[in-house]
Amino acid sequence: MSFSTHRYLLMTVDPVHIGTGGTRLGRVDLGITREPGTRLPKIPGTSLSGAIRQYAAYRYNKRRCAGKDNHCGNDACPICYTFGFVKSEGSKQKAHSGVVSIGDARLLLFPVYSMAGPVWVASPSALADFGIEGQNVSADQARWSDITDQPYLNLGWLMVEKEGDLDLGNALPHVPAPTRERVALVSDKLFSQVVNSNLEVRTSVSINPETGAAEDKALFTYEAIPRAAFLWLDVVVDDYRGAFPVTSKQYDQESEQDNAGDNLGQTWSQPAGVVAAGLEWAEHLGIGGMGTRGFGRMRRIAEVQR
Ligand SMILES: [Zn+2]
Repeated sequence: MSFSTHRYLLMTVDPVHIGTGGTRLGRVDLGITREPGTRLPKIPGTSLSGAIRQYAAYRYNKRRCAGKDNHCGNDACPICYTFGFVKSEGSKQKAHSGVVSIGDARLLLFPVYSMAGPVWVASPSALADFGIEGQNVSADQARWSDITDQPYLNLGWLMVEKEGDLDLGNALPHVPAPTRERVALVSDKLFSQVVNSNLEVRTSVSINPETGAAEDKALFTYEAIPRAAFLWLDVVVDDYRGAFPVTSKQYDQESEQDNAGDNLGQTWSQPAGVVAAGLEWAEHLGIGGMGTRGFGRMRRIAEVQR
């Protein structure tokens, strides 16, 4: 079958900032990308797609095909096949669309501090969008199980009263138990409030690229999704061409020569594997970020059955 959807559960390993382009919003110079309506932060598929393409291209020794244009455009190139290509030939431009579409990474569980230790907040809609239906909670209260015996819990600055136990059953099998046992369910409205008032706000300095020195008065602040937030992402593969250029066998031979130790194996036998391999490197190299080391790394926790 040529059409499939792959859902990945991700966890931020660093604060992740994918900016809106530098508008000044209140005390923050660089705002984060948000979903319209809910105002929840998200990581746009376009940003993810650019990073995933780049890392996949490096893993496949197709550096030329890592960027936004001037790709090789070769029929035998898995990067150009998977993500599409743009290429100039004389005065003409040749282009082909890819066979994968990478969606936005959306928030599932968001970490906040409480007097009882770290808590991951969720909301009925955030869970339902991920496929966990039937959870509900009243507007100003919360549901949790093992976090504390007290009838109150603070989520950052916000104090909420317990409405009852939270029973997620076996709905989050891929989320590590220490997180899963510390989930607090709040209404969609409270979720947005808690998330937006617990984003990281960091201060940084602009560096002059020529001298490497800090520029005068170039301090700026930016928002970021904190570490240990859980997000999810759908990758839709519509392999309408049905002609993925490299068999796993050919690739294995190539990898022994060019990528010794980088054990991609069978993953390269299909476009979804190319995406997964690119995503794997986001754990080490990060998505977007501010060009700083130790920023934007995201771990692929699992591929989730839908
Ligand atoms: Zn290419």
